[in-house]
Amino acid sequence: MLPLGQRYAFAVFAFITLVAGARGFYGVYRRIRRGRAEVEPHGDDLPRRVIYALMTTLTQSRTFRRRPWVSFFHAFIFYGFVFYILVNFVDAIEGFVPLRISSASAWGAAYQLFADVLSALVLVGVVALVARRFLLPARRDFLFNDQTLLQNDVRKGKIARDSLIVSAFILFHVGSRAMGAGARLAVDGPDPWEPFASMIAGLIPAQSAEAWREFGYWGALGSVLVFLAYFPYSKHLHLFLAPVNSLLKREAGSGVLPPVEVNLEAEEGFQIGAERLEELGWPRLLDAYACIQCNRCQQACPATATGKSLSPSAIEINKRMELNRLAGTGFDKGEASPRTLLEFALTPEAAWACTTCGACVAVCPVEDSPMLDIVEVRRQQVMMAGEFPAQLQTAFRGMERTQNPWGINHEQRMQWAEGLRVPTVEENPEAEVLYWVGCAASYDPQAQRTARALVKLMGEAGVSFAVLGKRECCTGDSARRAGNEVLYRSLAEKNVATLNNFRSKTIVASCPHCLNAIGHEYRQLGGEYQTVHHSELLASLVAQGRLKPQATGVDIAYHDPCYLGRHNGVYEAPREVLHQIGKVAEMPRARENSFCCGAGGAQFWKEEEPGTERIATNRMREAKETLAGSPGGVLAVGCPFCKSMLSSAPGGAETVVVKDIAELLLEAVEKGSGMIAAVPAAVEDAAVVPAPAVVAVVEEAAAVPASFVAIEEPKPVEMAAPRKKWSPAGKPSPPVDEARTAASAGTTAAPTVAEPEVPVAPRKKWNPATAREVEKPAVESSVDASKGAVTESSTGTAQETSSATEALSPAAAPRKKWQSKSGKSLN
Ligand code: SF4
Ligand code: SF4
Repeated sequence: MLPLGQRYAFAVFAFITLVAGARGFYGVYRRIRRGRAEVEPHGDDLPRRVIYALMTTLTQSRTFRRRPWVSFFHAFIFYGFVFYILVNFVDAIEGFVPLRISSASAWGAAYQLFADVLSALVLVGVVALVARRFLLPARRDFLFNDQTLLQNDVRKGKIARDSLIVSAFILFHVGSRAMGAGARLAVDGPDPWEPFASMIAGLIPAQSAEAWREFGYWGALGSVLVFLAYFPYSKHLHLFLAPVNSLLKREAGSGVLPPVEVNLEAEEGFQIGAERLEELGWPRLLDAYACIQCNRCQQACPATATGKSLSPSAIEINKRMELNRLAGTGFDKGEASPRTLLEFALTPEAAWACTTCGACVAVCPVEDSPMLDIVEVRRQQVMMAGEFPAQLQTAFRGMERTQNPWGINHEQRMQWAEGLRVPTVEENPEAEVLYWVGCAASYDPQAQRTARALVKLMGEAGVSFAVLGKRECCTGDSARRAGNEVLYRSLAEKNVATLNNFRSKTIVASCPHCLNAIGHEYRQLGGEYQTVHHSELLASLVAQGRLKPQATGVDIAYHDPCYLGRHNGVYEAPREVLHQIGKVAEMPRARENSFCCGAGGAQFWKEEEPGTERIATNRMREAKETLAGSPGGVLAVGCPFCKSMLSSAPGGAETVVVKDIAELLLEAVEKGSGMIAAVPAAVEDAAVVPAPAVVAVVEEAAAVPASFVAIEEPKPVEMAAPRKKWSPAGKPSPPVDEARTAASAGTTAAPTVAEPEVPVAPRKKWNPATAREVEKPAVESSVDASKGAVTESSTGTAQETSSATEALSPAAAPRKKWQSKSGKSLN
């Protein structure tokens, strides 16, 4: 117990520091509250959320996903601090009442042992992490690309200073406590339940033991009280707000963007996206406070890895610094923040460099979502400011006019199936499987090979399937990722209206972007569908013995597409199929750690932002290294955009062939049936599929084995149980419009022949004042031909150029060509 005078002094000191700390924490709360209200729920099903947050925090499971050694030492500090909550409380009481926890009892011995051992481990952990951060080569983990926009404070080393302050605090806090415990044992004698303190006791002379005890008390508890006041301004606020972030996280997976209230009739206050801090949703401001500033997200980001100015961690850090800067200003009371996000958080190039791969979200130990900040900035740039890469305008216009981003006449949507028997929903209204072909497989020659292989395999397996044919239109995925929420909404609502007219139990998509949009994002618009990727269907058909592949012996490396793996959790099915075909080698960055191909987030429709190399080149190099020593090795993919990006990566396509899982399986099935007939190369080279020279499986009137004649006797498909993703509430995001959900649910009326019109948003409501008239025709050669873009010259088909639809998209300002850091254009 402390002497009386010290007790009074300590009580006053504690009161002052606690009040200062409370003011700081309240300020943080007020600034988070400045964020926009969310449409999605964040506090429902609280018991389940609490359990999830506790489990995630106490197991440190997300921290251990990367940097295992760092996580190991960090765990020393974390568990030490958790136990120190109790230790500090007990110590504080011991200073005021004659209480003493003795190791004579079992509980007392356990308490003393934990306190003692954890004190030692915390000190070891702090020393190890400080050495790593400031002395070892790994310190480069905390460096930023020169092009990355950073707040001045950060450039001047504020994060490193903060880390040093916090490390010094921990060393002093825990060290003082250990000295105090040692001083006690210097008088009482060593205790086997306190080996660390007993060791320290040997260093303290008995005559100075009492002074050391008082020092231990004031040092340990005084420092923690001072630090409580410093916490709200330190990155170590994450100790409190990381668990809160887990508690209030979005239910939807990273593949589902938050819904937007699009009120085209609003005369005032109409806002889509975020220009300033307060226009971000409040969870995005909470993200900034929860961020550990560990740079794990930057390490995983394909844009950062290829020298772009984008750093997801810099976004969170810049937001945090800005919030700290605004503390105590009118911002807390509701005034607008003085700077735009593009002035302090990220550059426009960074905003347009994101592939929405979700790696930053998946890897973040505290469940931050910097990707969503970027999407909000894009929404504002496209919908409100009309400032976006010019090439995107071509894709937007294509989606508006021809319902596909290629801008090819919608009438050609079924040309991919020429020569094959592919029933439409009118021809097979009872189809068990609805094959959603997607724009890529409809118009991109490389993806057409996948679609043709897939329908042949479904025919071989006797699957009753149908396609929507010309009823199908773009899912709007690219428009949404590019920030054009209104265009996305118009396409998605049309698709939901179409899909609600059919009874197919399962929708199979060969494009993970379509899979994600239809299976998850359309729920926000009242569309509830069971969707599977074609690899899942094929894996199940092989497992049921309905497809009998014979191994071709090819060496295969599998690239996990971001929208299949990370966003939708499909990792096993593609591998199950590929293991039936050849020897599968895992790439170093696989499954959740997969590295993007560079196409997502609407990047496919624009030039890459300036950097040191293309993302696809980086990935292809890894594929080549994985397949080194395997001449004829194949890089297997399950996404048409990955296929296009990787097969056109400079320096890759000559040595590694890129094929879809369906193509590889078809070859193996044909080998098994004794009929070797690969998908004709001519198909790959043509801009739009001509009548194929060789159509092996379901071509009418072809001399093929009877079993290959499709659709005659369909068998039920036993699909695997629907995939489960974590969600605190275990239920999907609520539809934006409940009434529309109710109206659409259960609609199983026979399909109508009339095709719904694409609703066109009134231009004046969302086309910004700065938008210019469209200057170029719909068909532009600026879309990279290597990506399979089909232009007038390649299709020989006139594009729709109705002047009535001119300038439906905001006009984009011209942007620079893709350049290396040296400034040399690579295009
Ligand atoms: S989503 Fe991918 S590209 Fe975008 S910031 Fe995150 S890691 Fe980088
Ligand atoms: S956002 Fe997450 S991963 Fe990125 S620096 Fe912050 S805590 Fe680390």
